Amino acid sequence: MPPYAIRIIGDPVLNERAAEVDEINGALVRLAEDMLTTMYDAPGLGLAAPQVGVQKRLFVYDAGDGPAVLVNPVISESSGEWAYEEGCLSVPGLSWEIIRPKEIHLTGYDLDGNEVSFEADELLARLFQHELDHLDGVLLLEHLDEEQRKAAKKALREQTMARDAARPSASAASGGLRLP
Ligand code: ZN
Repeated sequence: MPPYAIRIIGDPVLNERAAEVDEINGALVRLAEDMLTTMYDAPGLGLAAPQVGVQKRLFVYDAGDGPAVLVNPVISESSGEWAYEEGCLSVPGLSWEIIRPKEIHLTGYDLDGNEVSFEADELLARLFQHELDHLDGVLLLEHLDEEQRKAAKKALREQTMARDAARPSASAASGGLRLP
């Protein structure tokens, strides 16, 4: 079992602006470690603290260069446009092509309290913008047009109904069929 259950759309914690981190201490380091474990278990490329129910401005990620943590991240510049198929662990099973800036300049702090600065483009820039949205209480659905959003809400309702209907038999089956 991962340390945290990932919060799913509909949970109000995903719609609130998270607070600045004012102290990097042992508890914050432990939170980041548990978030990384939860992210790798999902699996996902990034995970923001509100997705595990914690209203703090930090996220963890691994874009292929190993685990990393960013505290109080800020995007100071962005440019260009890039369309990319984007999904979210908090909006399971759905993805959309979304246009965002292609390059960004992001600053923040690492877990040692050092200021860090990135010129990121394409996938890494996308990941940073997506996780920063979470810190501002913004989910992917807010980037869709009205028609896409309606279709998304319908799909999510159907998912919830299917999950509820399947619950008793699914838990029995996973108990019996789980392989090492
Ligand atoms: Zn997300």
